[in-house]
Amino acid sequence: MDNSKFVNLELTQKSENLDANSVWKKCLTIIKENVTLMTYNTWFLPIRPVSLVQNTLKVQLPNPFFWEWIDEHFSTIVKKTIYDVLGPDGKLSYIIADEKELKKDEIFNSTITPNTITSKPVETKKPSHETNLNPRYKFENFIKGEGNQLARAAAGAISDNPGGTSFNPFFVYGGVGLGKTHLIQSIGNSIVEKFPEKKVIYLSSDSFTVEFVEAIQSNRVNEFSGFYRNMDVLIIDDIQFLTGKEKTQDLFFHIFNTLHQSRKQIILSSDKPPKELKGLDERLISRFQWGLSADIQPPELEMRIAILKNKAEDYGMMISTEILEYLANNITSNIRELEGSLIKLLANASLNSKEITLDLAKRTVKEIATDRKINITIDDISRIICTQLNIPENKIREKTRKKEIVLARQLAMYFAKELTKNSLKTIGLHFGGRDHSTVIHACNNVEQMRNSDPSMNDLIDSIRNKLKLNYS
Ligand code: ADP
Ligand code: MG
Repeated sequence: MDNSKFVNLELTQKSENLDANSVWKKCLTIIKENVTLMTYNTWFLPIRPVSLVQNTLKVQLPNPFFWEWIDEHFSTIVKKTIYDVLGPDGKLSYIIADEKELKKDEIFNSTITPNTITSKPVETKKPSHETNLNPRYKFENFIKGEGNQLARAAAGAISDNPGGTSFNPFFVYGGVGLGKTHLIQSIGNSIVEKFPEKKVIYLSSDSFTVEFVEAIQSNRVNEFSGFYRNMDVLIIDDIQFLTGKEKTQDLFFHIFNTLHQSRKQIILSSDKPPKELKGLDERLISRFQWGLSADIQPPELEMRIAILKNKAEDYGMMISTEILEYLANNITSNIRELEGSLIKLLANASLNSKEITLDLAKRTVKEIATDRKINITIDDISRIICTQLNIPENKIREKTRKKEIVLARQLAMYFAKELTKNSLKTIGLHFGGRDHSTVIHACNNVEQMRNSDPSMNDLIDSIRNKLKLNYS
């Protein structure tokens, strides 16, 4: 057998690696002289050279945020470095660590030339049954908590026996950023791994609609419908976007029936439970309830800490438990935001060449809070304050003079005035029919406590952050 081709290939790859390494080393030397040590350690050291082909150096980044961050803050120095090391035709492209394992083509491909810096996804031609699954979403990195227990357990059972459990369809619902997409794609990835012969497809209901419209326009509706009827596992994300789209719903109804009758697995996600999907055909709503509907609730504290720990590890960052707990205590609404807070903290540290301290974490949380437009009701405010002060929510409206309840009520009035558009009169009415002068008195009182008592000031700040972060 003629092995020369392979030997050759190996040699080329080896020398590519060598070159990439030495070129990247040179780049690092220049970069190090031009940025702070913190920036260098945080944003440049984790980058790995991958290959050098002609004048294009390919590097691997731990996650997509790196690219965004470098692109935004250090593009000048990076451009200059590439120019110095590789000459005027030098280019830098990157891949993301996770995606490298996919054996897929690069998901992102970015080029830095001395004049331009761009970042755009590469179009990859889809094979006939591209699954659309993102391999980053796995059970292994899906953290379990009270809020997702049922959904996670059912997802595991389905992935062991797709179409063969009574969880068909499997309908996952919950608010934004709580892990619906992650979970349903994990099922898909796990099935692909365990049952390679099964045809799995993932798409959002929006893509489904767009494809359907295109199929109508090009007279290929039968082909389109046949394609989906032929799947073993159909995963449709954000099914709520089918509401009001009658024709698409009608087609989906038929596909659903075909699949369900032949015991093929259907997995759906939505922001609401089936019966609250207004504008969705009753026939579909009732079918969605045939199997299992499981909700995902916001993560509890322990889970938020676990998620932050995990992420920090992913990014190769050492962050103290105290800081992680601070973030977890203040950012409570959803997981996407939790991840975002960590990135922002790293970014702040790097940009200002500061250590990651509790103080910086506090400032970061504050920044996140002030970035938000807030949409909160008086009831939301009451609920959050009562939870924070550990008093039953109904007490806040009662005519009691108990000290902690008076405090809760006054704080709630204060924030209702600050954060909602309600009149003083309306606010008073919400708290057991008090009049507007009581509200004014409450606000003055809180203001006074804030000025005289530092711990009260901290409490007020932390409540404000919580309110803003959870209602934006
Ligand atoms: P949704 O689809 O509900 O809006 P996503 O699935 O997109 O939410 O999740 C938002 C982000 O949070 C993603 O980066 C996801 O990986 C992460 N995430 C969500 N739930 C978990 C979890 N239980 N464990 C680890 N990461 C999670
Ligand atoms: Mg989603």
